[in-house]
Amino acid sequence: MARYIGAKCKLCRREGLKLFLKGERCYTGKCAIDKRPYAPGQHGQKRKKLSEYGVQLREKQKAKRYYGVLEAQFRNYFEKADKEKGITGENLLRLLELRLDNIIYRLGFASSRTESRQIVRHNHVTVNGQKVNIPSCRLKEGDVIEIKEDSKDMTRFKIAKEASEGVVIPEWLERDAKSLKGKVNHVPSRAQINVPIEETLIIELYSK
Ligand code: SF4
Repeated sequence: MARYIGAKCKLCRREGLKLFLKGERCYTGKCAIDKRPYAPGQHGQKRKKLSEYGVQLREKQKAKRYYGVLEAQFRNYFEKADKEKGITGENLLRLLELRLDNIIYRLGFASSRTESRQIVRHNHVTVNGQKVNIPSCRLKEGDVIEIKEDSKDMTRFKIAKEASEGVVIPEWLERDAKSLKGKVNHVPSRAQINVPIEETLIIELYSK
């Protein structure tokens, strides 16, 4: 499966905000955007006024990078969101939030979405008791997510168990940190999706 393998911190610097792509490091003084708060590259420090198209494009790039989704897959999400009832922009964010890798991250069982994807791919996760190794798997109301019983003794999950207790989870999820288990209580409303993304700009871009 294709994935971005370039420098993650450059993505944050390009978007001008922390996208929290590197787990623990993002919360330390080593964060690149704290040290170099300008775009990467030779002309990164020059101020550029973006066109309307440029603003919309940056917003789409930001959303893709935030959730770790590549262009073709992101476009598919837009098309699905457009076909569903309701507001397309909100549907789009909901589809991204309901990805299995995002939910593992939101529950605090991984320190970044990248780690979360790895955990899923390496067969450490079950959904409703069944092994699932597809990070993009779309969860629904009532789904129960759990780290597999025989994986729970691994050091990474012992650390995750303690670390997740300090992570505030969204109200649409439920977590039992001790047993590394979570549940989707309900599908989130837009107000319950706390992301620095203006989805209307993305819809404007794709609707051109
Ligand atoms: Fe972004 Fe994290 Fe790198 Fe900071 S450390 S620039 S938040 S990926």
